[in-house]
Amino acid sequence: MTTRYPASVDVAIVGSGPTGAAYARILSEQAPDATIAMFEVGPTVSDPPGAHVKNIADPDERAHAQLLSEGPDAQDDGERVGGIVKTAARRARPGTYLLDAGYQVDGEDGLPVAAFSSNVGGMAAHWTGACPRPNDSERIGFLDAEGVLDELLSEGERLLGVTTGAFDASPHAPLVRGRLATAADEGREEHERVQRMPLAVHRRDDGQLVWSGSDVVLGEPTRANPNFTLHDESLVTRVLIEDGRAAGVQVTDLRSGESHEVHARFVVVAGDALRTPQLLWASGIRPAALGRYLNDQAQIVFAVRIRDFVPAAGSEGEARTGLSEYSGVTWVPFTDEMPFHGQVMQLDASPVALAEDDPAAPGSIVGLGLFCAKDLQESDRVEFSEDAVDGYGMPAMTLHYTLSAADHATIDRAKAEVVRLGTAIGEPLDDRPFMMPLGASLHYQGTTRMGETDDGDSVCGPDSQVWGVPGLFVAGNGVIPTSTACNPTLTSVALSVRGARSIASALASV
Ligand code: FAD
Repeated sequence: MTTRYPASVDVAIVGSGPTGAAYARILSEQAPDATIAMFEVGPTVSDPPGAHVKNIADPDERAHAQLLSEGPDAQDDGERVGGIVKTAARRARPGTYLLDAGYQVDGEDGLPVAAFSSNVGGMAAHWTGACPRPNDSERIGFLDAEGVLDELLSEGERLLGVTTGAFDASPHAPLVRGRLATAADEGREEHERVQRMPLAVHRRDDGQLVWSGSDVVLGEPTRANPNFTLHDESLVTRVLIEDGRAAGVQVTDLRSGESHEVHARFVVVAGDALRTPQLLWASGIRPAALGRYLNDQAQIVFAVRIRDFVPAAGSEGEARTGLSEYSGVTWVPFTDEMPFHGQVMQLDASPVALAEDDPAAPGSIVGLGLFCAKDLQESDRVEFSEDAVDGYGMPAMTLHYTLSAADHATIDRAKAEVVRLGTAIGEPLDDRPFMMPLGASLHYQGTTRMGETDDGDSVCGPDSQVWGVPGLFVAGNGVIPTSTACNPTLTSVALSVRGARSIASALASV
């Protein structure tokens, strides 16, 4: 039987989102002789592989790339919504698709809009690129005690190409920041004050400001690495274990339907916070904490309009591709006293017609989103079925998820706070704030959580290696053990850096 896969490699990576890409990049830099195979169930939808689909200029091509990312049953049913759209309906955003069953159990809150992306680049081919650092209790105490967390976050920022200067040309951004600072900064330490949002964006050779994704994380060091191969449309169905150690993966080639074994000395599972535990479970690796402490960030949104600002002459509408520089993103950091993360975005610069005779000036409509830190509960979990399967034939999921009294109190505080902050910026467009359906933040965490010791409450150790299964590493937001409110990708990429370094040094020592 011929196969497009190698018989064996040093490192097999499952998933091509930013956390799997971080492993490939660090290994390409630190272990250039290591052979690396990356397997991705979805197709390649952009060029370079993993690039953000919104960087595709042609609207039809862009829509097609989004559709191809929408999982095993992708079809154009016209049900997708873009951006922060206030709807209680179960709708997916372009490039994502919803868990179609098992998202809510009777009597529980569930995560009705729990979603995935299946494409080279993962969700970061569709994301918003906000990369704030965690603060206060969002931080991982045992990594801070070791003194390593900030260096890992800096390395994550390097891989993602994080910048704070992307929207320095935006005419409204300083105004929005200044008004928010007046309302929010009192009593905050400098790093907790209102500031420009760190973003994963870059300027292309043609001068266009565009989103960064896994393409940037992989970077030239990975693309130029002759020992690195990326296999799209390849579903990993099992991690192979031999003598208690990770020994490779079983992978189905979705083009031919054939299944193959690829042997590996190290396996990294970076399949998102719901599918990484799914693959471990399917492989018979079922530690007590697997799938537990599932947490998402309830998201409260509110919109205002800045009327008292006249845009500079010549301000243009929506960028044809990539990002409009009339936009801007402001960050109100999480603190333990104010347990919300604020992402304040001037909505796309395209003049939004509020009424036919009342077009809003580019950048003058401001959307405020407050993400709430969850009260972590072991009972919030993803469970897998012994017999039912999902659209890929993997064990079907059921999500158990409940907001506690503490969560409701946090949400009520966030609702009051978002109105207070919004009113400080401009004239409210809404009567009251809106809570997005649970799951809308797309920041699912905790299901393969990291722990300092193997005490039954965690799945992996501080270097992301699964307890009791040498050679098996997990990556992604599921690894984050704390309750964060901030966008989690920078943190999970930082944790991947450490795991990749640990594999590189193990490879060097044999
Ligand atoms: P993913 O990016 O989800 O990639 C996992 C990949 O693994 C997928 O491509 C999947 O197909 C593949 N896979 C899964 N199982 C298998 C298998 N068995 N075999 C083979 N392949 C498999 N985060 C932020 O931090 N900031 C933001 O501003 C932000 N905005 C967002 C906006 C939108 C619209 C979306 C959709 C997401 C946003 N996110 C944001 C979330 C962010 O994209 C994710 O946190 C990030 O992509 C997670 O990276 P990952 O590598 O862990 O997983």
